[in-house]
Amino acid sequence: MSATGTFVCSICGEASQRICLYCTKDACDNHICEKCRRCSDCCECESAYAERSSASSETPA
Ligand SMILES: [Zn+2]
Ligand SMILES: [Zn+2]
Ligand SMILES: [Zn+2]
Repeated sequence: MSATGTFVCSICGEASQRICLYCTKDACDNHICEKCRRCSDCCECESAYAERSSASSETPA
């Protein structure tokens, strides 16, 4: 009765009402991407951005 969420975030254990569209694991609002609806493990938005960011630090000739 205490649990409000239907699921439990597979990453942090918080109550969740969403699941990753990719791996279908439970993920709370903190660990699911609003853009692609994937969990942090599957989201490619941030990873793609981080990859670019780190790459941009290196100035190509
Ligand atoms: Zn979480
Ligand atoms: Zn996932
Ligand atoms: Zn994403």
